[in-house]
Amino acid sequence: MDPLSSKLLDLYEESPVLMAAYDGTDRLRAANAAFRAAFFLERGETPTWAELMRRNFPLGRGTVIRATDFEGWLLSTVSRRGKTRFRAFETDLHDGRWLWMTETVDEEGWMLCIASDITSMRAGQRQVRQDRDLAIRASHTDELTGLANRRFVIARIEEMLARPGPDGGLGSLAVLDLDHFKHINDRYGHHVGDRILRDLAVRIHRLVGRVETFGRVGGEEFLLVLPGVGLEAAGVRVEHMLDAIRATRPIAEHPELAYTFSAGVAPGLDGDTAESLYARADEALYTAKIAGRNCVHLAGLGPLRSLTEA
Ligand code: GH3
Ligand code: MG
Ligand code: MG
Repeated sequence: MDPLSSKLLDLYEESPVLMAAYDGTDRLRAANAAFRAAFFLERGETPTWAELMRRNFPLGRGTVIRATDFEGWLLSTVSRRGKTRFRAFETDLHDGRWLWMTETVDEEGWMLCIASDITSMRAGQRQVRQDRDLAIRASHTDELTGLANRRFVIARIEEMLARPGPDGGLGSLAVLDLDHFKHINDRYGHHVGDRILRDLAVRIHRLVGRVETFGRVGGEEFLLVLPGVGLEAAGVRVEHMLDAIRATRPIAEHPELAYTFSAGVAPGLDGDTAESLYARADEALYTAKIAGRNCVHLAGLGPLRSLTEA
């Protein structure tokens, strides 16, 4: 290592400012002593951010999480975490400290976190600021599933279209719509329908990468934003998600109840707006529905299956 980098690392380690870096899979790859102390980490440990939160929550240490449903909180937070280039917010620790946390994300999804102790600063307006942050969070969140909502997803599509990848590609957009969902509601009741929507959110979200966004944009319609992923690769990703959904039996009281979705996928093109790209993905969704549902269609090309089998 060159002397400057080595000197910087020594300084980072000694600084009272909390510093850490997570990689594109949200795994902790570096943390200085102040960060390790605040979150109860041993030197050299590399948990994912979710593992770290899951470990500290029941022990009442680290970040204060004001939620009774921890897993719901986690899904909702991960659905938006690291998907914007920069974010700054106030957060508090169980040890009583308040932190001003910043998150900087690069195009590979690596995130630099830097947090300063602001316990003694501007305490008076703290409640107002935290209420504001909660309101911002709510304005980006779908209440039923905890996923990103339409407003947040559309903003990510616009960002994707504004930023061509190294190969000049503009990524892909998939629209997913549950099949015969009205029938499921009619047969099993609306609350079972709601549980299926939450099941889909959890299962698909596990397969979504850091720089990708999955959100609920309507009743039983979802959008998946895939920056840097070409049309056919995007289709294969969505087919893989459909396989995961086909295999689930989410309602224990109704072990026979399975569900599927249909999807349309379209690539971002020069001159696209979020609206025009969404419209092409929606047309592909329409042909997938007409073709019998439970399948993935690519805009202008038809069923994914016939392409991969050819
Ligand atoms: P298709 O395969 O053509 O998409 O058929 P579908 O029945 O899924 O589509 P349709 O658009 O006819 O009906 C959508 C249904 O989704 C109707 C509505 O009751 C239901 N729905 C919308 N939002 C919610 C929700 O939040 N919870 C529940 N349980 N149902 C919802
Ligand atoms: Mg629909
Ligand atoms: Mg539907």
